[in-house]
Amino acid sequence: MDDKFAFETLAVHGGQEPDPSTGAVMTPIYQSSTFKQDRVGVHKGYEYARTGNPTRTALERSLAVLEDGTFALAFASGMAATDAILRLLVPGDEVLAVDDLYGGTYRILKHIFEPMGLKVRLTQDLTADSIIDSVTGATRMIWVESPTNPRMNLIDIASLSRALAKLEQRPLLCVDNTFATPYLQQPLALGADLVLHSTTKYLGGHSDVIGGAVIGRDADLGQRLAFVQNAVGAVPGPMDCFLVLRGIKTLAIRMDRHASNAKAIAEYLAPKSQVAELRYPGHATHPQFGLAQSQMRNGGGMLSFIHELGDTAARSFVEATKLFTLAESLGGVESLIEVPAAMTHVSTSESSIAVDPGLIRLSVGIEAVDDLIEDLEQAFKTSVSR
Ligand code: PLP
Repeated sequence: MDDKFAFETLAVHGGQEPDPSTGAVMTPIYQSSTFKQDRVGVHKGYEYARTGNPTRTALERSLAVLEDGTFALAFASGMAATDAILRLLVPGDEVLAVDDLYGGTYRILKHIFEPMGLKVRLTQDLTADSIIDSVTGATRMIWVESPTNPRMNLIDIASLSRALAKLEQRPLLCVDNTFATPYLQQPLALGADLVLHSTTKYLGGHSDVIGGAVIGRDADLGQRLAFVQNAVGAVPGPMDCFLVLRGIKTLAIRMDRHASNAKAIAEYLAPKSQVAELRYPGHATHPQFGLAQSQMRNGGGMLSFIHELGDTAARSFVEATKLFTLAESLGGVESLIEVPAAMTHVSTSESSIAVDPGLIRLSVGIEAVDDLIEDLEQAFKTSVSR
């Protein structure tokens, strides 16, 4: 689509055409597993829905436009998309991942791919230079999230990709952009090779679908990933594609509201005696506040904080909220709250990257912010204090 359009316009129209056969303005849910061939091998572009489906194509076109890529591939979940990317590697190859990452990503690296011969190395280092120092001759892929889940650390994607370019053998840089979304930052434009999304989150936006995506610019990578997508078959159904596509159309306005609510909540939490450490990229207390301002359009809708009184108090707090629902996942219109060490990141508990048990993660929704703050205030008052 024409480059002159702003993100908000592209979110609605990017890669989209009214349905060619009926003029339907919204891409229909093509609920068909197979497509008629006029003669053997002669068809209208679709033969079998694992390989391709028009509703999926519409979603993939939209994702490619929004991430400023040349291809996008939709998957049945964020983890299926991660799996497809890791299948680009072969035994003996090394993945270097920043150790502050989604528990499921740690689990697939450590318990699926490492036993199959991939070398998995985790680094605590967040700066571009220190990540580069950890690269070895075997490193073929660098895996980062920014902001990270759940500690909300940032990686300077442009500096990292510039530093990688100086290496003799440049590993692929893969950025999980689930927390930021392409509205806040576009990793490909900053030099990344692949962008991963759990479309379950902000892109879908309504907590009603599981999905994933990979976006990139390199045609060869695109073909190899499309081969994996078709050969392995972890594809989303047409209804799921429709739901993500519908969610994307309101992404920009939702993200603005998520971010303004999260910022107000960060300001409310910062002076609280129960908050030992606040983690929100859009708040001046964040150690990478400057980077957040240059790399991201706004601070986003996710924040976390460490409860001063530890894990029992953290659990009591998340059970005391009434408007914030105690649940895993994030990025929907409704506010969610959780304790990562006991919920989303339980698979890291065995490892050196275990999350602080007193850490509470908030996915701030688009409700009226005063109602959200009132809910947190009553939870501080009613939850156990030790
Ligand atoms: N990446 C991040 C940052 C996530 O938070 C998640 C899920 O929570 C995933 C990837 C995996 O996505 P899915 O649950 O859609 O498989």
